[in-house]
Amino acid sequence: MYFITPPKIAMAMHSRKIWWRIPGEGRKLYLSFDDGPVPEVTLPLLDILRDQGVKATFFCVGENVFNHYPVYQQLIEEGHRCGNHTYNHLNGWKTPTETYLGNTERCSRLVPSGLFRPPHGRIRPPQTRALLRQFHIIQWSVLSGDFDPRNSPEKCLKNCLDHLKAGNIFVFHDSLKAASTMLEVVPEFIREARKAGFDFSLIPEMPGVDPKPVNRHAEAG
Ligand SMILES: [Zn+2]
Repeated sequence: MYFITPPKIAMAMHSRKIWWRIPGEGRKLYLSFDDGPVPEVTLPLLDILRDQGVKATFFCVGENVFNHYPVYQQLIEEGHRCGNHTYNHLNGWKTPTETYLGNTERCSRLVPSGLFRPPHGRIRPPQTRALLRQFHIIQWSVLSGDFDPRNSPEKCLKNCLDHLKAGNIFVFHDSLKAASTMLEVVPEFIREARKAGFDFSLIPEMPGVDPKPVNRHAEAG
């Protein structure tokens, strides 16, 4: 069982570095894709995102990055951002903390990022405490439900369009299981959200921190 939007009790477990949505100005939404990269799915998704001019954040499974490194490199080259989703997609509730942290570290060696999303959203307090020294933990505002074969693409699209709210983080999956629904829904979702006056941004490397304006001339000089 899962919730389209997180239960209030989960959101109450907050910290300065655990994010269920991204605060800030403007009508920004945040697209995120978990569990890739998987060439058969991630590559067509990249075509969609390129066509639409949208950048997204990918929470990668280390093992998939290892097996499909050129796809990972392409993600980065095309301006998307990657976060850590452990090396073997471990369920924190069922994994001893030391194993969990070691597996996350193994992913870090391939995916250098300050963003972490726990697989299944399941993580225990000692794991959270340890990881917060190194990461911002990015949870979600809206689960599309693309991984659930009981959901039609129409239902999945509705799950998302019912929660168009500035700052919301949407979760899709670039996995084989979710592919057919996800690839159908994502372009439609982007079009509809834009019609409603929203646009899409990368989840910031340091959520909650306003980036300092960059003086490009000074940089170039
Ligand atoms: Zn996952």
